[in-house]
Amino acid sequence: MTDRYAVVGNPVAHSRSPSIHAQFAQQTGQDISYERLLAPLDGFVAVVEAFRATGGRGLNVTLPFKLQAFEFAQQRSPRAQAAGAVNTLRFGADAVFGDNTDGVGLVRDIQERLGFRLEGKRVLLAGAGGAARGALLPLLQSGVASISIVNRTVTRAVDLARLGGDPRVSACGFDELANAGPDDAPFDLIVNATSTGLEDAAPPIPSAAYRGLGLAYDMVYGAAPTPFMRRAAELGCPRVSDGLGMLVEQAAESFFVWRGVRPQTGAVLTRLRAEIGTA
Ligand code: NAP
Repeated sequence: MTDRYAVVGNPVAHSRSPSIHAQFAQQTGQDISYERLLAPLDGFVAVVEAFRATGGRGLNVTLPFKLQAFEFAQQRSPRAQAAGAVNTLRFGADAVFGDNTDGVGLVRDIQERLGFRLEGKRVLLAGAGGAARGALLPLLQSGVASISIVNRTVTRAVDLARLGGDPRVSACGFDELANAGPDDAPFDLIVNATSTGLEDAAPPIPSAAYRGLGLAYDMVYGAAPTPFMRRAAELGCPRVSDGLGMLVEQAAESFFVWRGVRPQTGAVLTRLRAEIGTA
């Protein structure tokens, strides 16, 4: 019998997940269906319960429900626990398992697709929302030397740094980044986990922070390079990337959580990029 999965969000019509999971299923021979579920802003739990009651086996969860999904899960992976957010639910016979695959998707895209080794690197993580929270533990586990979290609301960056409880993590506001000396090359990698790209702007990271960078990675993706990618390239960064690879990798990890089978991601990413017009 075909096993049912879905992505739940609001809005959800734009989600690429049905196309990605259909390709994974075809490639691995798994008998699954995958649909979109639009939940009312005050109706997440009702929609999830109804899907489960009618034979649903698992869900991807997108904005704005990742925190509610965390509360809904009865068992959670360490990476979901560290993020305080869940993007993957698996319905077992006895319990609902919650996981967070965003961060591992980011790390895989950076290391395996882009070939940028994270071990020993100094990372500037811009943003302290759900995506940054998901990224923190997998980045630390990859062996980075340090993570500086910078956020518009500095208290959120400080809270996130404390949550990590790791001496390699620190927090500051955007203004403090301007204090790097003229010859400093303070970071090897900047990950933009703010949503400024959706407003067609780069985060207010001073140019000094871009000096000597090896990679500038934006979690946002679109048909054209994002404002953050453009700024990094203008300031001489040799490598820039959007977050489409992260999207495909987090989906592959969710597929693995549900089915115990790891799909190949390369061809799926190539096709998706062609679909959104950046091939
Ligand atoms: P979120 O929880 O709403 O957090 C948004 C973050 O952006 C916060 O840190 C916020 O700062 C910051 N921000 C918003 N407007 C800003 C501005 N004008 N100037 C400076 N900072 C600003 O969102 P999220 O879930 O973390 O997602 C962040 C981005 O990552 C989204 O664009 C999302 O599409 C993307 N994402 C991509 C993937 C992928 O697979 N590629 C996965 C997850 C997320 P404050 O704390 O000060 O409000």
